[in-house]
This record gives sequence, C-alpha cells and structure tokens, in this order.
Amino acid sequence: MVVILENNATEEQIKNVEEHLHKYGFEIHKSIGAQRTILGAIGVQPNFDTRKIKILDGVSEVFRVTAPYKLASRSFQESNTVIKIKDVEIGANQIAMMSGPCSVESEEQIFKLAEVVAKSGAKILRGGAFKPRSSPYSFQGMGEDGLKLMRAAADQNNLLVITEVMQISQIDLINQYTDIFQIGARNMQNFPLLKELGKVDKPIMLKRGLSATIEEWLMSAEYILSAGNKDVMLCERGIRTFEKYTRNTFDLSSIPVVHKKSHLPVIADPSHATGLRDQVPAMARAAVAAGADGLMIEIHHDPENALSDGPQALLPDTYSKLFQELKLIAKAINRDI
Ligand code: PEP
Ligand code: MN
Repeated sequence: MVVILENNATEEQIKNVEEHLHKYGFEIHKSIGAQRTILGAIGVQPNFDTRKIKILDGVSEVFRVTAPYKLASRSFQESNTVIKIKDVEIGANQIAMMSGPCSVESEEQIFKLAEVVAKSGAKILRGGAFKPRSSPYSFQGMGEDGLKLMRAAADQNNLLVITEVMQISQIDLINQYTDIFQIGARNMQNFPLLKELGKVDKPIMLKRGLSATIEEWLMSAEYILSAGNKDVMLCERGIRTFEKYTRNTFDLSSIPVVHKKSHLPVIADPSHATGLRDQVPAMARAAVAAGADGLMIEIHHDPENALSDGPQALLPDTYSKLFQELKLIAKAINRDI
C-alpha cells in the first residue's frame, strides 16, 4: 500500500501515520521527495481497510500497489533511482558505459583493455573473475588473482569495477575489489544470494534470467531492495527464444517497459544478447535510442584467443568507433555518454 502525504503535512502528522501503520503490522519504506513524502507500507494484508489510514490528518491519498513487486515499482517511487558511485551517476542523464573483457585472463590483457576503455571515455571496467560457464571443462576464471589485476588496471586508469558474484561465499572477497556487484543471468533467481546482496553497501546490477519474464526479473530486484539495498540496476542481456541465428533474443522493448513499471535504471548488454560481434554495434545503438541508462559491452584485443565469449567481443577500434556513434544518438535524445 502507498500512502501519499499532503504537501504541507507536518512532521507530527507524518509520525502519527507511521505509528498507525506500525500498529497495523506494516513495515514502512519512506521516500521523501522534493514535493511530498510517500510511505510505502509493506505487509501481506489483503483485507486491510485502507480507509483506516485515509482518514488520518496529513494524508492525501492511499492506494494499493497491484503489482507483486512493491519497492521496485514506479508507484512506490515516482522519480528515477540514481545510483552514485564516486563521480559516476547511473540512472541520471549520462549513459554509463561498462566495457571490458568477458573474463580477466592475464595482467597484460586486462591492463591493455582497461586503457582502451578509459581512452574511449567510459568510466566502468567490466571483467569476470568467477565465470558461470555452461561446461565444467571451460575456463572458470582467475578467481582472486583476476580481481586483483582488474582492480589495479581500473585504478591505474581511473575506472570503476563491475564483476560477477556467483555465490554467497564470494561476497566478502569480491567486496574488497569491486565497486558494483553483477548478478549473472543464471543466478537471477538465486534467492539466498539476492537476500545476502541486499545487505551489502555497494550497488548491484541484476541481469535478466535466460527465460525470465519482466515481472520475475522485477521480483528478483524486490528481493534485494527489501533486504535493504536500494542501489539496484537491471540489465537486459537477451532471453531464450526459438530463434537460433543469435545467441539470445535481445528484448529491446523491456527497456521502455521497465522504465514504465519501475524507477530502477536499466542497462543493456548487446554482447550477450546477440553473441555475435557483427550484431553488437547495431543493437548497442538501438539500446541507447530506446532509453537504456547504460551499456555493457565486451571487448578483446585478440578475440580468436579469448578464453570466453570471443565471438561477441568487439575489437578496440570497432568499439571506439561505436562509442562515437553512441554519443551522437545520445545527443539526439538529450542525453550524454
Ligand atoms: C557475463 O557478463 O560475462 C555473463 C556471464 O553474463 P550473463 O550472466 O548475462 O550470461
Ligand atoms: Mn561474457
């Protein structure tokens, strides 16, 4: 249930409403906007008579949130969530570029690519140290050595780090090296992991599951939000369909759908969504035009010998050229990159 207070509601009136909500067994999430305060009351009480709150002084409106996700919903919070990490804002006007290799492979590789990323003007370095591979015989990532290398390469180039956490036992370790935790598509419904990441004080990027509906994806975000972490962004990385020409089917329309239903930023990942290098630039351009708040793009200087996802990695030159095109598209919709 959402309780909207009157613009001129006093502190005392707000406190009184909160006390009533507590008395009726609701948990409260308060959002103080420029104009008015909104109280989100969480609690499964299908028969609760909202008039009990509506009659209190200072209350302007009370309504039920019909979507199963509450904290993630636009009716709970009208304004976009803006996630601030050092001098980077995600969800505001600037489109956040997160680029780098699929996996950290060596010191030489990650330092070379971090330089490419920084020179392009991007602010966030991506790279996996713990890799969710379909085969147990494929490269599984460098683990902590990879995290150390990526942190050093990022620091040298004044970049932030985003990297995937696969399980609860890795959280503390990864927390020492990363700025943003990535939850991979395969873990989108790993509820114990989501709850634990709800307790960390760093932003989370939640990738859409391989065959998850938008509602299921938002429910997973709700797990993190309800555990206390408000800095959640979503990432569309393509879904499984019957189509075989591409690795996944890029659901471009999820960007405006999520923007309508939720206040959380949406990142697009055209690399995993297509799986093929020659299709990445077109889908990256489309994602910016569709309103994505950021892009995740895989790059590699020697993709033929990459230890994971070589076929979808852009070469540095193609990436730099794409970056310039994206700037033009961003400008056309009054955004920056
Ligand atoms: C990745 O980012 O390298 C990755 C494994 O992504 P996804 O979880 O979307 O497959
Ligand atoms: Mn990858």
